[in-house]
Amino acid sequence: MARVAIVTGGTRGIGEAISLALRDQGMTVAANYAGNDEKARAFTERTGIRAYKWDVGDHQACQDGVAQVAADLGPVDVLVNNAGITRDGTILKMTLDMWEEVIRINLGGCFNMAKAVFPGMRDRKWGRIVNIGSINGQGGQYGQVNYAAAKSGIHGFTKALAQEGARFGVTVNALAPGYIDTDMVAAVPADVLEKIVAKIPVGRLGQAHEIARGVAFLCSEDAGFVTGSTLSINGGQHMY
Ligand code: NDP
Repeated sequence: MARVAIVTGGTRGIGEAISLALRDQGMTVAANYAGNDEKARAFTERTGIRAYKWDVGDHQACQDGVAQVAADLGPVDVLVNNAGITRDGTILKMTLDMWEEVIRINLGGCFNMAKAVFPGMRDRKWGRIVNIGSINGQGGQYGQVNYAAAKSGIHGFTKALAQEGARFGVTVNALAPGYIDTDMVAAVPADVLEKIVAKIPVGRLGQAHEIARGVAFLCSEDAGFVTGSTLSINGGQHMY
């Protein structure tokens, strides 16, 4: 039986590449998304992968979404917590809403989704959870106290859950991308992006498929001894 995987935010950007990489690795994939129906429909037409709409920041919606995927495709063996948003601004301009929304979706989403899939993984004694962190959670970033805090939190969340999952055959790892060429980075002003690329030793943005290959390894049968770790894929920008 093919492993069943959920990729949150799996219909575009890095998530789309992860959905495809897991499918190519023989898994049955459910791609979650938040609200962009048009992109989700085009994704399903293009790839044949089913898309499921729910907000990962909504605890009950995650329980219901995972139950629906399990009813349609089978019990969930693999979770990739990829969904994420930015609401940037310096602390002088950042509102409480901007802070709370990013924490709720980027960090709360990981808890909500893990809570929904972990009991089944424990019972079946096999599971893979990969949480997408960020170079900006490792090193901080001007104008992103909310995002950096949420992404940094993901790294602690990963190490704690890895300890809980280890004896049940459930591995939990983080992957911290550097700057990747997606809609999220397209929103960064051109002059700021130019300065960012100048700091990347390989001299370019990363591509989504370069992140997806790392995720696919962490989700594979061969990665059973890898847990509680962070795989940094960032063109050499962050080396410690
Ligand atoms: P995109 O903005 O291109 O895509 C985001 C995806 O997440 C979309 O599928 C979106 O759905 C989904 N999403 C957003 N909010 C929710 C929600 N509340 N519930 C469910 N799904 C949601 O992002 P990227 O591909 O660039 O980023 C993917 C991940 O990688 C994020 O966690 C991001 O923080 C991280 N990352 C990205 C980097 C980059 O340089 N791009 C660098 C480091 C980390 P919809 O289409 O419906 O809006």
